[in-house]
Amino acid sequence: IHSKLPNVGTTIFTVIGKLANEYDAVNLSQGFPNFDTDPKLLQLVTDALKEGYNQYAPMQGSFSLRKIISEKIATLYGNTYHPESEITITAGATQAIFTAISTFIRPGDEVVVIKPSFDCYEPAIELFGGKTVPVELEGLDYSINWNKFKSAITPNTKMVITNTPHNPTGTIWSENDMVQLQEILKGTNIILLSDEVYEHIIFDGKKHESAAKYPELASRSIICSSFGKTFHVTGWKVGYCVAPNALMGEFRKVHQFNVFSANHPTQEALANYLKNPEHYLNLAQFYQEKRDYFLDAIRSSRFKMIPSSGTYFQVLDYSNISNESDTEFVERLIKEYKLASIPMSAFSLDGFTNRQIRFCFAKTNEVLDQAAEILNRI
Ligand code: GLN
Repeated sequence: IHSKLPNVGTTIFTVIGKLANEYDAVNLSQGFPNFDTDPKLLQLVTDALKEGYNQYAPMQGSFSLRKIISEKIATLYGNTYHPESEITITAGATQAIFTAISTFIRPGDEVVVIKPSFDCYEPAIELFGGKTVPVELEGLDYSINWNKFKSAITPNTKMVITNTPHNPTGTIWSENDMVQLQEILKGTNIILLSDEVYEHIIFDGKKHESAAKYPELASRSIICSSFGKTFHVTGWKVGYCVAPNALMGEFRKVHQFNVFSANHPTQEALANYLKNPEHYLNLAQFYQEKRDYFLDAIRSSRFKMIPSSGTYFQVLDYSNISNESDTEFVERLIKEYKLASIPMSAFSLDGFTNRQIRFCFAKTNEVLDQAAEILNRI
């Protein structure tokens, strides 16, 4: 077989998940909550099933859901996306990202990707003949060097992919970062694919800087978000993206033949559930408490903590403990200590040598206690 992705193996989340199950490990690897979904939301799905929402949703997604998303974005970020033409419900944000890349990337196009990054961007770029141009975050706090970013832009740059709050580092971009990004993209035809799936998980009173807030960015952006992250339902695979009319028109040409539409009853339920903004506005506090609970519990361990300002991930540095590579260390933690995490090299460029691993703290305190007990004796 002449592979289109010769250098791609099985995603780290599947590989580590399998190993974690095999060794019955406490699993803080793949990012998903282990607590219950709000019974009110489950009831709304049951209602939708009984009310007969069991056939295809409209290709663009349920209108009531698109309408309430439009209102949410207008309230939070001061920008109006037309529900009819500028919002599409997708089978998770990963599908939105894949479809966006497939819609716009042609052979030879360059796509600037911030590293480390979530693992779904580059294979999609490669599949459509694009070339990933990486820009590495710098230092212990993983900040972006905008001069370096600027020099990565060439006449062949078709797209830039950004992600705030950032998986895997838990860093967030400030208003200043967004202004810098805006300055650099101004006057170009570059499309911004803005992955904002953790938009509601942001800590210490900070505000999420959506590309939607910045007119010069919004006019060129496809912004993706995820209900899985926000409502503890990653298994539903329902997300959405928003973009100005012209971009969304092209996106939908592909979306309609990619999945046609996302699953229907959950869309109806989410439309009703979103009517109460508390359901997403309380999430930041909820996860901040989780982060703090986890960090307090491992304060006396030998791990160093890389501050997490958003997402439900916490990166820990083990350079005081071992000189093993992160993949070796993660494997040993699973096998010897029964604790699963993700090696940061899975998100990074070849040659990455930081001694760091990523933990998901979207877990009950009981599971966080189990993980902390192990981390404290390593
Ligand atoms: N976003 C999740 C994480 O980073 C994984 C989702 C997936 O496995 N595709 O852990």
